[in-house]
Amino acid sequence: MLFSNNPQEEKLITPRNPKDLTLANLTPRRPTMGPDIPVILWRLLRLVSLHDILRDETAVVVHLMGKRLGAALNVKTIEELHEQLTRLKIGKLDFSVNTPDAVHLAVAECLTCDGITPPIGKAICQLEAGIVAGALETIYPGRKVLSEETKCIGGLGDDVCLFECRII
Ligand SMILES: [Zn+2]
Repeated sequence: MLFSNNPQEEKLITPRNPKDLTLANLTPRRPTMGPDIPVILWRLLRLVSLHDILRDETAVVVHLMGKRLGAALNVKTIEELHEQLTRLKIGKLDFSVNTPDAVHLAVAECLTCDGITPPIGKAICQLEAGIVAGALETIYPGRKVLSEETKCIGGLGDDVCLFECRII
């Protein structure tokens, strides 16, 4: 147990692991700044900083991060997934294929990559691919989901980012 540094407000604070924070715990309280951040800040962290630190490991680590995030959304249906991803402003979504064996999600105005010019030369939205896979594994418990980004706006110069998921 630690005491707060603020002498006027001595509260007992129980240290916790940040990994245990839930969506409810993380709700912003920024009455004048609001809940959103500039997309450019996200991209500096997600693309520039992470690749600088993790280098070749970035794709795998970020995909795993996405899977955990997708599972934490705790959705039961594709409609709920659509709602959550829209709320998170991931992009404009189109579930062009939605069967128990395969889901294809096209994302326009992708949070991570739309507008990056010239294209990087390879798909870069592993976080989003992981999120969809993690969410689908909660929608289809006991099954494994493989997801791959086959089109990428800022990575490959495509019109949308396309995530093709196989549910095994
Ligand atoms: Zn992309």
